[in-house]
Amino acid sequence: MTAPPGEYRSWGGLVARGSEIVGAADWIAHRAGHRSPVLAYGNGRSYGDSCLNDGGTLIDTRGLDEVLAFDRETGLLTCEPGLLFDRLLDIVVPAGWFPPVTPGTSFVTIGGALANDVHGKNHHSAGTFGCHVRAFELMRSDGQSLLCAPDINADLFAATIGGFGLTGLVTQVTLQLMPIRSAAMEQEILHFDNLDGFFELAASSDATHDYTVAWVDALASGRHLGRGVLFRANHAPDYGFLPPSVGRNLRFPVRPPFPLINRTTLSAFNWLYRHSQPRGAAPRRVPYRPFFYPLDRIRDWNRVYGPQGLRQFQCAVPMAEARSAVEEMLRRTLAAGEASFLTVLKLFGAKRSPGLMSFPIQGATLTLDFANRGARTEALLTELDRIAIAAGGRVNPYKDARMSPATFRASFPQWRAFAAHIDSGFSSDFWRRVGSG
Ligand SMILES: Cc1cc2nc3c(=O)[nH]c(=O)nc-3n(C[C@H](O)[C@H](O)[C@H](O)COP(=O)(O)OP(=O)(O)OC[C@H]3O[C@@H](n4cnc5c(N)ncnc54)[C@H](O)[C@@H]3O)c2cc1C
Repeated sequence: MTAPPGEYRSWGGLVARGSEIVGAADWIAHRAGHRSPVLAYGNGRSYGDSCLNDGGTLIDTRGLDEVLAFDRETGLLTCEPGLLFDRLLDIVVPAGWFPPVTPGTSFVTIGGALANDVHGKNHHSAGTFGCHVRAFELMRSDGQSLLCAPDINADLFAATIGGFGLTGLVTQVTLQLMPIRSAAMEQEILHFDNLDGFFELAASSDATHDYTVAWVDALASGRHLGRGVLFRANHAPDYGFLPPSVGRNLRFPVRPPFPLINRTTLSAFNWLYRHSQPRGAAPRRVPYRPFFYPLDRIRDWNRVYGPQGLRQFQCAVPMAEARSAVEEMLRRTLAAGEASFLTVLKLFGAKRSPGLMSFPIQGATLTLDFANRGARTEALLTELDRIAIAAGGRVNPYKDARMSPATFRASFPQWRAFAAHIDSGFSSDFWRRVGSG
């Protein structure tokens, strides 16, 4: 089947064009009979073009979503790659286990989490998703099925974790889960008045809390530049499961003909958001889902950006340059007159991922979301790339739809070593843009 219009897209709004769609089981059974090159498609929660493969074949993995083994004593779980975190959580949380690393939406597949080596609010304490992968099976386009683990096919293990789906199709993953004593989180919310406030608060919070993340008011300027709200939490220490949180079925109903995000609406939103967060509140017990996945409560919220979609920018900058680079990026964004709806700041920790191309480095990570306004947005993003690279940092490939090959290569100087492990039958729009040549 050829991709139905709009059905296979990335979260930023890029659409699969002229791709053949095949189920994973079908591709495994009849590998030779499909249009080349191929690429696995998880659940399209990557923002840019790394999950798209125009003119080739997309292997839809969502039909392969079984839990194959789950040891409730040790927390070792083996599953198929199309399993969503959403369903995984329903299975493992009541048994007292939790994914050791989870991204900010539960609508991500395990295969997608592995291929992008995703990070969560606990990067400083747990590293990336790949740090907890014990083994996986990889199917190559020549028909080989390879078991990969830190000591078995070790090069392919490292290249596939964070390997953008280019080394083959992951067909099974074995993951070490993390024990929890409660489904509740103990959360604190703290306000900071500027960037210095963030860096102080984040460093002290990382020492006491497993999960930390900050929202930044990207419209604040002058002495309030970089002000925001920091959320920090630990799993609650005593056993007890709160009733499931409600309100998960809201849906953003239509895609408006123009972006609803502009400086006026954002200014009102930021004011409301900041003032709705309690100041100096004592730790509060909250269910885990709204803490980890606040945006999941409104399905298709990305429609708010209108028909041209959104462009997300995420960079990681080493600690020595982090303060000044983040300040410069926020200043440039203000000067460009662009409004970033969701601006997120976090410190990455020192734990190294086994993934060769893993995105996080120790330092700070800044994420900005912009409505796509064409050349104007492009110019700002190119400037943000420049600041990140000049600071010795990198730009996140799976949030990106337009970085240049030079930015990619400066971000990941090891890219040639990685390229040696790519399966020649696999490719993506992203890789043809940044990696070829
Ligand atoms: C609201 C929101 C919040 C987010 N928060 C975070 C966050 O906090 N941290 C973070 O790191 N990311 C975050 N992301 C990004 C998201 O976690 C990643 O892009 C993730 O990889 C998407 O997974 P997916 O299942 O949707 O896969 P897709 O986006 O469809 O694909 C991702 C990659 O995985 C490959 N792939 C998928 N399945 C397989 C397989 N079986 N074998 C081989 N390759 C495969 C694809 O080829 C592609 O390269 C967020 C995204 C959204 C929309």
